[in-house]
Amino acid sequence: MDNDRIEVLLGGIGCSVPPGTKWQGFLRVEGFSPDFDVPVVLTRGSEPGPIAVVIGGIHGGEHNSIEGPRRVACDLDPTKLKGLVAIVPVANRAAFHARSHNGSPPDGQNLARLFPGSPDGTALERVAYAISSKLLQHADAVLELHGADALEVIIPHVYVPEHQPGPGVSGQRPWTEWDLADMYCIEVIAATPHRDPGSPVNVSASAGIPSILAEAGSGDLDEHAIRIHYRGITNVLRRMGILAGLPLIDQPARRRVRYSRVQSPRSGFFYPKARVGQPIEKDQVLGEVTDYFGHERDLIRAPVSGVVGFIKKTMATNEGNGLFSIATDLKD
Ligand SMILES: [Zn+2]
Repeated sequence: MDNDRIEVLLGGIGCSVPPGTKWQGFLRVEGFSPDFDVPVVLTRGSEPGPIAVVIGGIHGGEHNSIEGPRRVACDLDPTKLKGLVAIVPVANRAAFHARSHNGSPPDGQNLARLFPGSPDGTALERVAYAISSKLLQHADAVLELHGADALEVIIPHVYVPEHQPGPGVSGQRPWTEWDLADMYCIEVIAATPHRDPGSPVNVSASAGIPSILAEAGSGDLDEHAIRIHYRGITNVLRRMGILAGLPLIDQPARRRVRYSRVQSPRSGFFYPKARVGQPIEKDQVLGEVTDYFGHERDLIRAPVSGVVGFIKKTMATNEGNGLFSIATDLKD
């Protein structure tokens, strides 16, 4: 049964990967330059088993979300696993090579909002479609990886979509999205309902596939953040029985929070006064935004009590830009 599903996935890509071997190549993005083709490493175990899909580099400037899965793809030994692991180290090559932080040439779209994509849309809509149709729809678990880019600071966290499982689909798999989230060993696990309908994690979750989004690190390569992703991915593979052995869990992970976003009230200069990880009381000053002359000043106050989970690092700000996120504990 599992081998049949793996063969269907391989047929969609148009490659042959015998059991116990590895394949690397590209998902073709039809109608556009090969610069948009999506690199993927398929590691097929010598025995049948489930299918795990890991997508890094949705945002080209989040380097630790690229390096973590790249290292896992290099290290996996197909003779020592079951099933199939599909790893895309960098989904958005155009943004990566443009050294762009969030948008992507040529059209500035955000790939994380375009799933499941379209076969006859823009280049990035077709990238989303290639990943969705050739990988995500076949998955038994999906990991979408992110981190901060060079203009942000974050606390590592896992986002768990709260969704209604598709009819009978999740029930066929002996793990839930919360099981996968616990494998990341990160203290903060956010559970906001369907934050971005076009993100891979939410599209997969809506189809009933256990799916999580994990964020760690900054725009700089950072061994600690790379290890968070590496350990998280390999622990998920152990939890699924793809890799042998028990997951390496060294801290309790589950702390449910909801994020509140704080936006810039005007365009101008932004001066943060808080730091990521800092506990904050409601109405406490987080920073200020001024005009170009320093005469008009808007104090930015916390809308809720909690912990600062995200700060924008740029001095330049535009009205409506996200400046902070505050993580507030949810009661179980
Ligand atoms: Zn991102």
